[in-house]
Amino acid sequence: MASVAIYPGSFDPPTNGHLSIINRGLALFDQLIVAIANNPNKRALFSEAERRALLRGAVGAEPRVEIDSFDGLLVDYAKRRHCPVILRGLRAVSDFEYEFQLANMNRKLYPDFETVFMMTGEDYFYISSQLVREVAQFGGDLSGLVPPNVLAALHAKHGAAARSAGA
Ligand code: ADP
Repeated sequence: MASVAIYPGSFDPPTNGHLSIINRGLALFDQLIVAIANNPNKRALFSEAERRALLRGAVGAEPRVEIDSFDGLLVDYAKRRHCPVILRGLRAVSDFEYEFQLANMNRKLYPDFETVFMMTGEDYFYISSQLVREVAQFGGDLSGLVPPNVLAALHAKHGAAARSAGA
């Protein structure tokens, strides 16, 4: 039977850190479901449709990666997909406490639930979507930190915002 894991996240926007986890996840699992969480408590820079397109563009035509999205609880989505294995990345000790709580809460809600953590590559440990959004907003150079299609989308978004602010 094919091994499958869900890699959930906000991906607002996808970064090279996310891609590193996806690529390394493909060495462990036959298939990955990259699942965009629609969190009503977080105001996203990119819409769900934009994040889907950015992820697909960054991952390419790799048939072992499915891009999907979900509302509500991850455990309910995992049950619906009949996939109790979740892949998460760990960047630093600061990620650990939250991830540890999340993994245990999810296991309480869904006893079969298993979280697999991958350490980030040393080139990517300092990259977060939030920092990428902030640096992009002020025109900093993000090449090498996000895939080229994400770089173009950030330029388009902030170029348009700057133009309309100047108008
Ligand atoms: P969330 O809002 O669920 O944290 P993110 O899109 O920020 O969504 O992150 C999704 C997953 O990817 C999380 O497990 C996070 O730890 C991991 N991740 C994010 N950035 C990196 C990175 N630079 N290296 C490794 N893992 C990362």
